[in-house]
Amino acid sequence: MPFTSFQLHDGLLQAIRLRGYANPTAIQQEAIPAILSGADLIACAQTGSGKTAAFCLPLLQLWNASPAPRQARVLILVPTRELATQVGDTLRSLALQLAKPLKLAVLFGGVSINPQMLHLRGGADILVATPGRLLDLIRQNAVSLSAVSTLVLDEADRLLEYGFADELNQLLALLPAERQNLLFSATFPSQLSELAQQFLHSPVHINVATDAADKPDILQRAIVIDTEQRTPLLRHLINSHQWKQVLVFCASRYATELVAVKLRKARIAAEPFHGELSQGKRTQVLADFKAGRIRVIVATDVAARGIDINRLPVVINYDLPRSSDDYQHRIGRTGRAGESGLAISFISTGNEAHFRLIEKRQNIALEREQLAGFEVTATEINAEDKLHGGIKGKRPNKKDKLRAQLAEKDFSGD
Ligand code: AMP
Repeated sequence: MPFTSFQLHDGLLQAIRLRGYANPTAIQQEAIPAILSGADLIACAQTGSGKTAAFCLPLLQLWNASPAPRQARVLILVPTRELATQVGDTLRSLALQLAKPLKLAVLFGGVSINPQMLHLRGGADILVATPGRLLDLIRQNAVSLSAVSTLVLDEADRLLEYGFADELNQLLALLPAERQNLLFSATFPSQLSELAQQFLHSPVHINVATDAADKPDILQRAIVIDTEQRTPLLRHLINSHQWKQVLVFCASRYATELVAVKLRKARIAAEPFHGELSQGKRTQVLADFKAGRIRVIVATDVAARGIDINRLPVVINYDLPRSSDDYQHRIGRTGRAGESGLAISFISTGNEAHFRLIEKRQNIALEREQLAGFEVTATEINAEDKLHGGIKGKRPNKKDKLRAQLAEKDFSGD
């Protein structure tokens, strides 16, 4: 089904061509007509599936055809500043060929509120916002939600995970009851399903995440490695494969700084990326990475969402993610939009049981590799894992033990 079958405005079709989209992705094929029909929508879609354009295109079509200017009829809520910027950029570029000028307000915290207040004077057509900053702006009477007729929750699972549940409820209470609701999420934790039940009306369900043909093409590998050998292994992999762009995930802000420094000492251009950096610094790091001035970003999970880097070839889990959902979000940074990608997880001392649980949830079973020159010396790894299933550097607590028991059970075929 080509884009022309959706009866989109010529200006939008032109913008689609300019962006180089040949055909709609699976989610676009289903979401565009549903949104144009005015239905509520609940879409299970990974980043990389083309979900941003899946809602931006029909929303722009509807906005372009509506007579009421600058009344903030569309509100798109997102969990991170990066995602807000990315959605804003997509809207702007798709609207470029329309005769009607789009006034877009992209609102997020971590930067001065005054320019955003100034920008909102005279209204805006579409609001893209993180919840906290939007509430601040509402409190200051800079913006009103009274005319919103379409609400989009993008990456809704992460909105809840980032502790936005309260803010979300406050915002929902400020919106007109009569409205179209579009919910996009890669995963559906129970808290989200409950929320969805509360405010969605007979939604159209779209699930492209399980559609094998549309799944990102990501080769997943697991390398067993001694904890202290992880940085040398990382250096080795980067150099031997001559990767130009690598996204490395660590568990803490401190670890991202440390690993980045060690890589720089080995003459590999690397920068940390985490929530404590200023917005200016984060933007700069991303721009440098995209332009090839930085080879490696070492990030916390703040970066697992909201970053869209074309052709990112490889993601490395230096530290394992806490949950299976985080694993999915992290590896989703590669293999986007039809490109193939590589995701490597380091399994170090004490992490085997934790990774087995991730594998179970992901429905995968990866071969454990050891690389020549980086063989594991900690012979107690397997025994310790079998006993405790703990996470590195920690005495196993009740949860760890339960996790180990679960993993044991899964593998004994009970
Ligand atoms: P998203 O899932 O929205 O984060 O999009 C992932 C990437 O896919 C972005 O770089 C988009 O520009 C790109 N994209 C979106 N729709 C299409 C399409 N129909 N054809 C090719 N690429 C697309």
